[in-house]
Amino acid sequence: MSLIKFADVSIGYEGVNVLSNLSFEINTGDYLCIVGENGSGKTTLMKSMLGLISPISGTISYDDGLKQNHIGYLPQQSKVQKDFPASVYEVVLSGCLSKTYSPFYSKAQKKTTLDNMQKTGIADLKNKCFRELSGGQQQRVLLARALCSTEKLLILDEPITGLDPIAAQEFYTLIKQLNHINGITVIMVTHDVNAAIINASHILHLGKDACFYGSTHTYLHSEIGKGFLVTDCPCENCKRNHSGGA
Ligand code: ADP
Repeated sequence: MSLIKFADVSIGYEGVNVLSNLSFEINTGDYLCIVGENGSGKTTLMKSMLGLISPISGTISYDDGLKQNHIGYLPQQSKVQKDFPASVYEVVLSGCLSKTYSPFYSKAQKKTTLDNMQKTGIADLKNKCFRELSGGQQQRVLLARALCSTEKLLILDEPITGLDPIAAQEFYTLIKQLNHINGITVIMVTHDVNAAIINASHILHLGKDACFYGSTHTYLHSEIGKGFLVTDCPCENCKRNHSGGA
């Protein structure tokens, strides 16, 4: 089922297009990675999905009961965020605020907070100070916070920047679980193309001369994908054909 649909959308700033005439549809359960060089418009596209900027032309529509303020967003980490003087529980709980106008947290919101801490494997860090955690732990806390805003869609902006390889791998495993087991649709802006082709179901590649949107498998066999990647398609079917096996 369609979750977000772009119909002939152009986006940019002060009337000047950064991206023009985009048409594609993200379905419930997809795991989409957005790749492309710096300055290609990845952040601009993400801002338009979050409703932070309006399209210059065309329409972005939300379906399957998705509301813009029910999107879980994990921004790139800043120094200020890393030094945030609050407990893990308080940071995660604050994610519930995007869904409510009340300054008080309900019982249900507190339960959602604990559930999401469990899901992201940080329940034992509940009373720790956020700024004393490792980069990988902080990223899990911010992921749990983002989950408090949504049951449907997570948007992640370069989430493994600054993480060591083990923490990055653990983070990818967690995202895959949320996608496969909990059915949460994932949209991730990333420079880690190798991880993108292993984990994502779909790729959106923003290039200077051409854009691509489609399944990861099709991307690996496309001209734009072949020009960007130095790897063969890892799917079982293609591996069999390359090795000449049955
Ligand atoms: P990416 O995330 O792929 O690095 P961005 O979406 O940040 O790319 O930027 C795409 C283009 O939009 C760049 O040319 C950038 O200079 C321009 N841009 C980004 N933010 C703004 C802004 N607030 N005002 C004007 N131009 C911007």
